[in-house]
Amino acid sequence: MFDYLIVGAGFAGSVLAERLASQSGKKILIVDTRPHIGGNAYDHYDDNGVLVHKYGPHIFHTNSLDVFEYLSHFTEWRSYEHRVLASVDGQLVPIPINLNTVNRLYGLSLTSFQLEEFFASVAEPKEYIRTSEDVVVSKVGRELYEKFFRGYTRKQWGIDPSELDKSVTARVPTRTNRDDRYFTDTYQAMPLHGYTRMFEKMLSHPNIKIMLNTDYREIQEVIPYREMIYTGPVDQFFDYRYGKLPYRSLDFKHETLNTPVHQTAPVVNYPNEQPYTRVTEFKYLTGQEHPKTSIVYEYPRAEGDPYYPVPRPENAELYKKYKALADETSDVHFVGRLATYKYYNMDQVVAQALTIYAKLAARSSWDPTVNGHALTTT
Ligand SMILES: Cc1cc2nc3c(=O)[nH]c(=O)nc-3n(C[C@H](O)[C@H](O)[C@H](O)COP(=O)(O)OP(=O)(O)OC[C@H]3O[C@@H](n4cnc5c(N)ncnc54)[C@H](O)[C@@H]3O)c2cc1C
Repeated sequence: MFDYLIVGAGFAGSVLAERLASQSGKKILIVDTRPHIGGNAYDHYDDNGVLVHKYGPHIFHTNSLDVFEYLSHFTEWRSYEHRVLASVDGQLVPIPINLNTVNRLYGLSLTSFQLEEFFASVAEPKEYIRTSEDVVVSKVGRELYEKFFRGYTRKQWGIDPSELDKSVTARVPTRTNRDDRYFTDTYQAMPLHGYTRMFEKMLSHPNIKIMLNTDYREIQEVIPYREMIYTGPVDQFFDYRYGKLPYRSLDFKHETLNTPVHQTAPVVNYPNEQPYTRVTEFKYLTGQEHPKTSIVYEYPRAEGDPYYPVPRPENAELYKKYKALADETSDVHFVGRLATYKYYNMDQVVAQALTIYAKLAARSSWDPTVNGHALTTT
């Protein structure tokens, strides 16, 4: 008998499997429909021997010392600060928009102070910031919004930013200095030998059994377990009772090129003409040296694997109905990006899983109904 059936071997499922096995002595079966562990963070060596991220670039960054220290048990790190260029008006300029971006784009030599004045002169103040368009236009004005954000957001989400919740573009800052880092978190690093190696170490405990290529619904009735931790899509768990929660998906087109370097930055964004949103060159992320280089193009799609919950008020309402069902299902714990229908980064999912573990551990130390000894004696 397994103590826990964990559905999904991404960050949410793997952190919980690791903690429950190593700290609480629980027996775990972790299943995933995919043929690999790691969830969306899975990386592997492609046919040419270049380390690539199968589901698009995954950059680790966090302000949480707890999360960073926890993951450091399973990997060494390679220091890495992410930088992105955007292809606008025939030039490659840094994004987030900063002093260099504006100066290069318009052939100016403004100072930080002058850039603040420039933004103030073009910004369209809004009394109430509601949409993604409001966020940007109220900071940098309509022209920069059109060049950098409107087309990109429409491609990515299939919706005009004027109809999309403010949370989407609020993630991208605007700066008046020359700081061109994409993230400013305290800890920014990549797992030295890749994410999959890190997951392998997390799941290597003898109490953890892994079953790949398996939908939990195939084994749920035949393999006994006490409780479930579910990290798949919450609407799927309830057989889409209230309808499907909308997601955006992506097609990834991977390519290997017969040249050591392809582009001048780890990621180049294409806000306008192209059907893809961005191109990533993995060797910048991984630090690998190789005579060839591998890149990936991302094409946003309405259908396909669920990647991004679509942040619109009606979707939040629909999720609330599923959350109410989830709250009533007391022997299943819903954790992670898909199960809570939230746009979480990896570190946030790790933090969420560690919190849930702390709750389970505190509870199982006194609750006889989830304690294996009590069950076997009644
Ligand atoms: C393109 C892209 C880029 C990203 N870039 C970054 C980044 O740079 N930095 C960052 O911090 N975060 C990034 N993220 C977010 C990151 O991927 C997530 O935070 C993280 O992977 C979430 O982990 P999870 O365990 O919640 O979900 P997942 O990794 O999605 O794992 C859930 C697993 O459950 C499995 N599953 C689902 N249903 C079933 C079922 N019925 N039976 C069995 N198994 C099932 C799935 O196959 C999946 O493997 C990115 C996400 C995407 C899509």
